Amino acid sequence: MLYLSTRGHADRKHFCDILLEGLASDGGLYLPEHYPQIDDARLTALRKVYAEQGYAALAYEILSLYIDDIPADDLRALCAKTYTKEVFGTDAIVPVRQLENNLYIEALSNGPTLAFKDMAMQLLGNLFEYELNRRGEELNILGATSGDTGSAAEYAMRGKKGVRVFMTSPHGRMSPFQQAQMFSLQDENIHNLAIEGVFDDCQDIVKAVSNDHAFKAKYKIGTVNSINWARLLAQVVYYFAGYLQVTKHNFEKVSFTVPSGNFGNICAGHVARQMGLPIAQLVVATNENDVLDEFFRTGVYQVRGSANTYETSSPSMDISKASNFERFIFDLVGRDGERTRQLFAEGVAKDGKFDLSRDEVFQDAAMKYGFVSGKSTHADRLATIKDCYERLGQMIDTHTADGVKVAREHLGAEPMIVLETALPIKFAATIEEALGRQPDRPAKFEGIEDLPKRVVVMPADVEQVKAYIQQHCD
Ligand SMILES: *Cc1c(COP(=O)(O)O)cnc(C)c1O
Repeated sequence: MLYLSTRGHADRKHFCDILLEGLASDGGLYLPEHYPQIDDARLTALRKVYAEQGYAALAYEILSLYIDDIPADDLRALCAKTYTKEVFGTDAIVPVRQLENNLYIEALSNGPTLAFKDMAMQLLGNLFEYELNRRGEELNILGATSGDTGSAAEYAMRGKKGVRVFMTSPHGRMSPFQQAQMFSLQDENIHNLAIEGVFDDCQDIVKAVSNDHAFKAKYKIGTVNSINWARLLAQVVYYFAGYLQVTKHNFEKVSFTVPSGNFGNICAGHVARQMGLPIAQLVVATNENDVLDEFFRTGVYQVRGSANTYETSSPSMDISKASNFERFIFDLVGRDGERTRQLFAEGVAKDGKFDLSRDEVFQDAAMKYGFVSGKSTHADRLATIKDCYERLGQMIDTHTADGVKVAREHLGAEPMIVLETALPIKFAATIEEALGRQPDRPAKFEGIEDLPKRVVVMPADVEQVKAYIQQHCD
């Protein structure tokens, strides 16, 4: 299996070459040259593997279709090491439960940081360690976080050989729980840099360091952002696992609703559907930051400026543009790299938008690819959390609530699975607002705020961050 860029560059690469890279050299995103097909016989075989050997074995089966440069036994071992009950809380790893009638919830948020990003990031940590060791190389991951992504990366990379993490975050602006999660890690390869500034200052620092090409090369600076293909691929597995839990026969279809921000999660659903998994609809649920909902309703993709990017109570979906969206658009325009380049490198980069409303391919988004969308607001979120708790006895987090709200607007004949992307404890203030009580806290997080913290506070100064990295690399 070879990988190509969505912007048409002629290079073709193997999995491990793009594993440690970000964007392709032409600014595009990597995708496989084709989607391996799962026919009826193969789906039956996967059903058996999942039932008899569990999630890690299923993950190996899917991943091995896309990875031809890691020996089978090694890849199998990496999957087995990643998807364990110890790390993800249950043998099922992603258990599906019924909410009501035809509406189900698939729990993706029982990993170390209680958010779905662990599903991919835990695998990425093991893949990085494996590949860096094989190459005799090191990697220093520099990132900026306002909460979720940073902690998922730290929990994935802690203790990994050949990897250090330098994670900047805005000093004093994360919730006490989030700070405790990140800063209580005592691993020597994890460095928390609390920057005296806002999240944008942290991002600016990361950009400035990455633009210093000499420094970047000398100190082997890399990232783990959501455009990484390996992350997306790891997410494809739980669409299969969700489908197999809810169906008995391959002729049955299901739909998925996905609380979406950067379009990484639901893009994995698109890949699963392109492989032939019997998915009826893929429902994109957004919060008040509705750039994706707008596209699927109107055909206009218009990124937002900072004045129109809102801080909401489902903060992990607060985006101004959706960084994985280009992957879907590439497929939508018939895998035309030049057209994709025009839409993104000219349309989005220069005018902040493109408009497919009058283009016949726009109809395909719904008709051929099964995409529909909806939007949820703070008031919807509160009402949905309250209804699920008081009437149905289930406590859900704010992002999942956006999913349930939108899923209910798209219920059809087939089962609808909403992906649960975080646990309520991470967003306690909004749960309290909705229910008048604190969310339950998993036992392993009792007293986490009182643990000793490992964090360095520094001004929003690129040179000081560089000096810190330099000191801790030798
Ligand atoms: C990251 C995140 C999302 C959005 O996922 P995308 O892949 O960016 O669409 C939704 N919910 C939670 C809790 C998240 O952490």
